[in-house]
Amino acid sequence: MRLLLIGPPGAGKGTQAVRLAAHLSIPHISTGDLFREHMDRGTELGQLVGTHMRAGLLVPDEVTIELLDERLARPDTEPGFLLDGFPRNRAQANELDGILAASGSRLDAVLDLEIPDAEVVGRIAGRRVCRQDRGHVFHVEHNPPRVAGTCTICGGELYQREDDSEATVRRRLAVHHRETAPVLDHYRDRDRGLVTTLSALGPVEEVLARGLAAIGRSRVDVSGIASH
Ligand code: AMP
Repeated sequence: MRLLLIGPPGAGKGTQAVRLAAHLSIPHISTGDLFREHMDRGTELGQLVGTHMRAGLLVPDEVTIELLDERLARPDTEPGFLLDGFPRNRAQANELDGILAASGSRLDAVLDLEIPDAEVVGRIAGRRVCRQDRGHVFHVEHNPPRVAGTCTICGGELYQREDDSEATVRRRLAVHHRETAPVLDHYRDRDRGLVTTLSALGPVEEVLARGLAAIGRSRVDVSGIASH
């Protein structure tokens, strides 16, 4: 299954992406995480993207597309993938169309996580991410770790992302509305049934259940009885 997860900062894309990908046994590919890995390793690419990320701006398309293209060429994407944070504008969406067409594949669904702007700032202010695995995301109020500052899943140190400051979040929101929201029209114009808009409000498990329902999968327990 080939899925896209689109939504403004703070909608919980990363949180949901990890869960959906695990449920579907497909890799979770986050361009933001790929960039942050480069920043941690201090590569040339990491230095270049760091300036854009810290400012809350999009990383230039050439760089982003090359990185994504390389990632999608890895064999683990054979059964499908979940893209989190790509495409972020129409140019990237066109590039992805080309990459998929070249391999004779197509997208199965685009999930649009919707959240009012007013909610976003509070959510992001409380967000804490694990240094060891950035898929482990917590919120000091809505999804607190068992021990403050420590990842409940792997024991890693939790930290606040540099681009999660209020001013930067406001800029990222503006970029989302201006550049990323039109990506949904790109897919709707292609196929009206491809895009499903889901409310990102409510407990993590409820949002996950909405996502699974949207792609025709409900959560199934070991005895095979659907529990949602
Ligand atoms: P995210 O982790 O998805 O919130 O992304 C964090 C930051 O990484 C964004 O604010 C951008 O600066 C950069 N970024 C992530 N994905 C992309 C993309 N597809 N195109 C351009 N910049 C991106």
